[in-house]
Amino acid sequence: MDSHVDLGFLLSALIPSWNSVSWLLGFFTYLAIAGSILPGKLVPGVALPDATRLHYRCNGLLSLLLLIVLLGISAKMGVVSPTVISNRGLELLSTTFFFGFLVALILYISGCKSKSKGSSLKPHISGNLIHDWWFGIQLNPQFMGIDLKFFFVRAGMMGWLPINLSILTKSIQDGTLSQSMILYQLFSALYILDYFVHEEYMTSTWDIIAERLGFMLVFGDLVWIPFTFSIQGWWLLRNNVELTTAATVANCFVFLIGYMVFRGANKQKHIFKKNPKAPIWGKPPKVVGGKLLASGYWGIARHCNYLGDLLLALSFSLPCGISSPIPYFYPIYLLILLIWRERRDEARCAEKYREIWAEYRKLVPWRILPYIY
Ligand code: NDP
Repeated sequence: MDSHVDLGFLLSALIPSWNSVSWLLGFFTYLAIAGSILPGKLVPGVALPDATRLHYRCNGLLSLLLLIVLLGISAKMGVVSPTVISNRGLELLSTTFFFGFLVALILYISGCKSKSKGSSLKPHISGNLIHDWWFGIQLNPQFMGIDLKFFFVRAGMMGWLPINLSILTKSIQDGTLSQSMILYQLFSALYILDYFVHEEYMTSTWDIIAERLGFMLVFGDLVWIPFTFSIQGWWLLRNNVELTTAATVANCFVFLIGYMVFRGANKQKHIFKKNPKAPIWGKPPKVVGGKLLASGYWGIARHCNYLGDLLLALSFSLPCGISSPIPYFYPIYLLILLIWRERRDEARCAEKYREIWAEYRKLVPWRILPYIY
């Protein structure tokens, strides 16, 4: 195939069809219905500046499992092809991109029109159109009673699994299923399931608490998460990797250590916020100024949770070997994102906690990786 044909193929594959629009809308409709009717813990969000709180129904795990069962049954009955996503990946990607673009525009217009004085819907307009469209105008915009920020992040994380499963089915159909594909599929499925098991922790993360909903978050949630986090799977469909036993074992260790640090750190903070006296690693917690946890993972580095996430990201790419940088897109992107995010969070905390934060910094001098950064 020459490069002209490739480019032509690429462009035509990128053009959204009505089919992909209906897939996307079907997925969102399912999520809206499942999110509203399936049982799940109702978790209060953090107190907003006007002392109100949003409440989040954390039924993501049930919604995801039901989605997979429904897709499985539909595939078995021949209603949908299990390889539809892997065959139409680029088209679904561009449809989702245009959808995100449109949603951000609507959010911008409705945000500008808002007269609300409450923290959730109060408009924050800088006057710079691009800035406001990119970063968003309102903190917690809603549609038909659904909190859109929570909805979109759930859609992105949930969409990642059907994409992976479709890639897996295609590799089985093509007869190219490899140990690398199995490892990637296993690690990422565990990560996604774990995310939804602990969905309530999401309600206290930076995105949900502090970020307004604009194109940056909508695009990040709907396009970036499902389509770029799955690059390793797409790459393995076309590339064969021979893994040694030692490499496989090392890869499993990176995943397990990453998981332990990531989940452990996020859990310790969550527990601490609920009960500042709860023991950390079996001992009473070291607390700075009554507000900041300085023991456990939070006594090793100020963002140990980022370190865990980075190790996990690396473990998703290691099955692809080191012959190409393409499967390392996710860990490289995450490294840049988390360094940037840590700087922004640091500035926010320095402003919020002032001398308490300075004391914490002295006690825990490392940002993400002890003795290095
Ligand atoms: P964190 O969960 O680390 O939350 C930061 C906030 O926690 C601070 O603003 C502060 O908020 C509070 N805090 C900080 N230090 C302390 C302390 N020592 N004691 C008590 N409270 C403290 O940030 P994120 O929301 O950025 O990340 C959450 C998870 O999501 C991470 O594991 C991250 O890796 C992951 N993530 C993954 C991404 C991906 O693309 N895979 C993208 C972004 C995040 P407060 O004002 O409430 O005290």
